[in-house]
Parts: sequence; C-alpha cells; structure tokens
Amino acid sequence: MEQKIGKLYVVATPIGNLKDITLRAIETLKNVDLIAAEDTRHTLKLLNHLEISKPLISYHRHNEDIKTEQLIGELQKGKDIALVSDAGTPGICDPGEVIIKECIENKIEIVPIPGACALINALITSGINTGEFTFYGFLPLNKKTRKEKLEEIKESEKTILLYEAPHKLITTLKDLEEILEDRQVVLARELTKIHEQWIRGTITDIINQAENLKGEIVLIIEGNKKIDKKENKKEKFQEMTLEEHYKLYENQGMGKKEIIKKIAKDRGLSKNEIYQKFI
Ligand code: SAM
Repeated sequence: MEQKIGKLYVVATPIGNLKDITLRAIETLKNVDLIAAEDTRHTLKLLNHLEISKPLISYHRHNEDIKTEQLIGELQKGKDIALVSDAGTPGICDPGEVIIKECIENKIEIVPIPGACALINALITSGINTGEFTFYGFLPLNKKTRKEKLEEIKESEKTILLYEAPHKLITTLKDLEEILEDRQVVLARELTKIHEQWIRGTITDIINQAENLKGEIVLIIEGNKKIDKKENKKEKFQEMTLEEHYKLYENQGMGKKEIIKKIAKDRGLSKNEIYQKFI
C-alpha cells in the first residue's frame, strides 16, 4: 500500500482584529496534526481565542533550515501541517519561502488558505493606483543596497509599497524625502486595529505628522508620473504659437540653431518641419 503523504497548509491569520480569520482557516487549524508557528506563544493566544488545541512547533527565521527538514519528515510520514506567522500571510516578510520550496522539491502538496495581508489592505485603502505595484518589504539597512533601492523607487512608474518599523520611520521618511520631491504618499497605520489611521500628503507633510508615531506601518508611494509630465509639457508647447515658443528660448539666451532643435523636440516634429513653418 502506498504511504500517505501529508499536506502543508499555508494559513493567513489576522493582522490585528481577531475576527479577520476565515472559516476555512479555523477549520484547517482544527484538522491538521501540527501547527508550525513563527512564535508559538503568540499563536497560542490565537488558538486559545478560537478554542483550538494542537501541538505547536516553532518555525522562525533563525531555525528555518533545521526545522524545514524536520517538518518535511513529518509531512512524509503523513502528517498534515499548518504554517502560520505572527500576523497576516506567511512568506510575506515572514518565514515561509524555504519550506514551500522544499515541499515542491519533495512533491508535497501545498494548500494556500488566504486571509489578511497588510500590504494589500494598505494598497486598496490608499487611494493611490492599484493597477500595478511593487512591494519592497523593508528597505535594506546596508547603505549601498538601500541607495540602489531608493534610486529604483524614484524611477518606478508603479505604485511602491514599503513596510517599516516605527523606530526607523523618520529615517526612512527623510531618505525618501530626498528623492521623491512632491510625490503623493500614504502612511497606513495599525490597520484593522482600534487606532487604524491613514496620513495622506507629500512626503514632507507626512514627516511633519509622523514624529513619535507608534504601531505597525505601511507606506504607499505614488509612481513616478514621468510620462504624464512629458505629455503635459508637449500639450503646453502645442498651445503656444511658434513665435511664443521661439521667444521662450531666445529669452534664455539660446542661438537660432539650438532653438529650432529644441522646438522640434518639444513638439515631436522634425527640425525641417520647424524650418518650413518659419519660412
Ligand atoms: N506577513 C505579514 C503580512 O501579511 O502583511 C507581514 C509581516 S512583517 C514581519 C510586519 C510588518 O507588516 C510591520 O512592520 C508593518 O510594516 C506591516 N504590518 C503588519 N500588520 C500591520 C497593520 N495592522 N497595519 C499596518 N501595517 C502592518
């Protein structure tokens, strides 16, 4: 007879409000043989609240490799396991990736049990474009890689999402202020909790209100609108007469040849077409 292999259930738990757990998550936590938890004491509180009693195994960043091996062994013996983190969705700035990859290698079935995730809830309530976005997690602390990420953020036309710890918030906001100019930013704080709050404005507006802010924070940053800016500029030039356009550059001290070149570029025409119009 073929040996039954267990399944790994990746279970999302609340990010604050304990009611944010799905019926399927509760059913899964009740039915599995083991729960692998980032912090067993933390998860125990949730399990007590749900009146569930189950064996817990600690599974966090610092024991991920050894514990993955142990958990794969249990799955291969036929045990079903639920993986949970302290809050939200495992694998999103939380342990998860390593065991998932190992399950795939070992042909062990993985079942997602969806639920709360801070970045998604911050994004959908931000009022900033949700169509395309990039999630950077926590910005790196290493100076060089942090600078590289900040440069990427500056150029990105997609909405940017960052997680940040309250004690590093002001430093991060100041780093962002240096590159973002007047970009719209939303600070989403303590989502689903009593003191849930959104602060909206430019990065400087946010800094002015963020001193001593506590709690859990997501930053949502509007993408770089360079295409819009380019289009606006083009429209603006097209509203001018050619004479006004010429005068604009003449007043800046440019010579005839250079002015013709600039006007052609601004209006998306060839230099020849501009010469013809002047003639
Ligand atoms: N796995 C989690 C998820 O699905 O969002 C994220 C875990 S990560 C270690 C913790 C970070 O998530 C916090 O520092 C904060 O940036 C963000 N976060 C978690 N809960 C939050 C909440 N209720 N409101 C705002 N941000 C939250």
